Amino acid sequence: MRVKRTLPPAAAPIPLNDIFCGIQGLQQGPAAIENFKADIRKKFQVRHCFLVSSGKAALTLILHALHRFSPERDEVLIPAFTCYSVPSAIVRAGLKPRLGDVDPATLDFDFDDLPGRLSPKEKLLAVVSPHLFGLPANIAKMRELLKDSGAVVIEDTAQAMGGEFDGKPLGTLGDIGFFSLGRGKAFSTVEGGLIVTNSDRLAEALQLVIQEFVGQSRFRPVKLAAYALALSGLTNPAFFWLPKSLPGLKLGETIYDPGFPIKAYSPFQAGLARNWKRRIASFQSVRRENVRYWTKTLGRFPWLEPVSGASQHSERPLPLLRLPVRVKNSRLRDAVLDVSERRGLGIMPSYPAPVDEIKELGLSNKGEVFPGARQCAACLLTFPVHGFVSPDDRRRITAGLETVRSADSVPVSA
Ligand SMILES: *Cc1c(COP(=O)(O)O)cnc(C)c1O
Repeated sequence: MRVKRTLPPAAAPIPLNDIFCGIQGLQQGPAAIENFKADIRKKFQVRHCFLVSSGKAALTLILHALHRFSPERDEVLIPAFTCYSVPSAIVRAGLKPRLGDVDPATLDFDFDDLPGRLSPKEKLLAVVSPHLFGLPANIAKMRELLKDSGAVVIEDTAQAMGGEFDGKPLGTLGDIGFFSLGRGKAFSTVEGGLIVTNSDRLAEALQLVIQEFVGQSRFRPVKLAAYALALSGLTNPAFFWLPKSLPGLKLGETIYDPGFPIKAYSPFQAGLARNWKRRIASFQSVRRENVRYWTKTLGRFPWLEPVSGASQHSERPLPLLRLPVRVKNSRLRDAVLDVSERRGLGIMPSYPAPVDEIKELGLSNKGEVFPGARQCAACLLTFPVHGFVSPDDRRRITAGLETVRSADSVPVSA
């Protein structure tokens, strides 16, 4: 066990002051939730917004609502490289995931591969387009492709709250969008899921689905408050070694499990979120600065290549959640992970395998291949860009990379 400064891969710290606001939220009750919602509608310029216990719960409820309109459609297209919560939510909603390949240069769908994946279109209920690590997916192109298909575009903005594309907030570009307020996301209230849409019809259906599926639990605020306190201390690099060394917490693991709870959002969480606009703005400005720094600094390592997405957003660095970087081969990648683990540098792999390799989904027998997704799983690393990354951490990370480079020049036989 390493009892030393250890960077978390991502962090949206919850200051003690926000926990105090959380307690006030608890005293206020449902009004705290209504205030948070009104604030979101205004900022995102949307007519409807819903809060539930997690991003995956949000996606499940969206899918239930959509399925009521089109009971004959039971397939949902997702990228073969994404968070395992996404197929978990689809299965939880009683539907089937359909996979499309991913372009390793953008982490968006591979649009050359996509047209074939859209048929049979009579079965296709929706497409889930994720803005992975905060890189904007091409929602306009997806909408264009789906125009006459009857399928809906769901924006998975779990990792990109506060991000924009073309001056419009991510999450509002598709027919409906959801966000995660879980730990390790762009903004966190310990856990939580947020849904936004401008469609009255969808909102009405969602309202009914929420009444039907969302359970209450009386003692949750106490648990959440304890969790918020723990998080506010333990995401600090001085203490992060502790939760990281507890295997029971499964930090950084992405898990396929359709058995997750679907619960109400708590007034305590709405209170925690009181300063959300200010917090997001300050998180974003550090993230942009660190993205700018790494994009420049990593130029010294020709075997590392930051995933820049489409060149359309190169003028101003994006406020990414974590900077995704492609490593030339998996041997170098393992060497970087090894040094990061030993020195606590916060460099982490992304998802361990493409979605088609999740055994429980039983998709492997279809014989489809997703080379782009496979490549992402094998060669992607993410660099930390959050506000805990100090100038000294930047130096430690760069020095760590240098040891890998010199190790790499040693013949493999040595
Ligand atoms: C985290 C995440 C989710 C699920 O959000 P939870 O709040 O953890 O349930 C969905 N999609 C992506 C891309 C995510 O990163």
